[in-house]
Amino acid sequence: MNVLLLGPPGAGKGTQGMRLAKTLGLPKFSTGDLLRDAVARGTSLGRQAKTVMEAGDLVSDAIILGVVAEELHAPYAAEGVIFDGVVRTIAQAEGVREMLADRGQAMDAVLFLDVADDEILARLAQRRTQEARPDDDPAAIQRRLSAYREQTAPVLAWYEERGPVHRIDGTGAVDEIQNRLLTALGQ
Ligand code: AMP
Repeated sequence: MNVLLLGPPGAGKGTQGMRLAKTLGLPKFSTGDLLRDAVARGTSLGRQAKTVMEAGDLVSDAIILGVVAEELHAPYAAEGVIFDGVVRTIAQAEGVREMLADRGQAMDAVLFLDVADDEILARLAQRRTQEARPDDDPAAIQRRLSAYREQTAPVLAWYEERGPVHRIDGTGAVDEIQNRLLTALGQ
């Protein structure tokens, strides 16, 4: 089963993705985590992505689709993947659809974690004190939210035109939110 987690930065995709992966026995794939690791290791991918990420902008579709293609070919991904923050533009949505179709699969469930803007800002400010991510500084946060509104929010409509999207209230206790997600997945 392939599951896509969508939502603004700070919506809880990483936390819930990890929990879903564990409960469903599927690998979680996060382009954000993969890129941060590449930056930390100073690989060629990391060098290409570093400045863009730190500014709070989106890494190019060509880079992202290259990374996704590589991950989907890995044996661990054969039975499906929890996609966490992977699809952020319509071009990525189209690319991922093609890659899955090539292996006889589809995005089986799209889960949108809905969190209001003021809550998002409070969570990102809190995360900044815990994780020291360079893209959680106020200027980068504003750019990430703009990138989300301009480029990622339309992805929701793209999926809604093609099948059901589960809109999940992303506020409350982490366990409660997890239960809402599992219920939406029929688990
Ligand atoms: P995240 O931790 O998922 O918020 O990702 C951190 C940063 O990595 C984002 O602000 C983007 O710069 C970059 N990134 C991660 N995933 C993508 C993606 N699918 N498309 C474009 N940029 C991405």
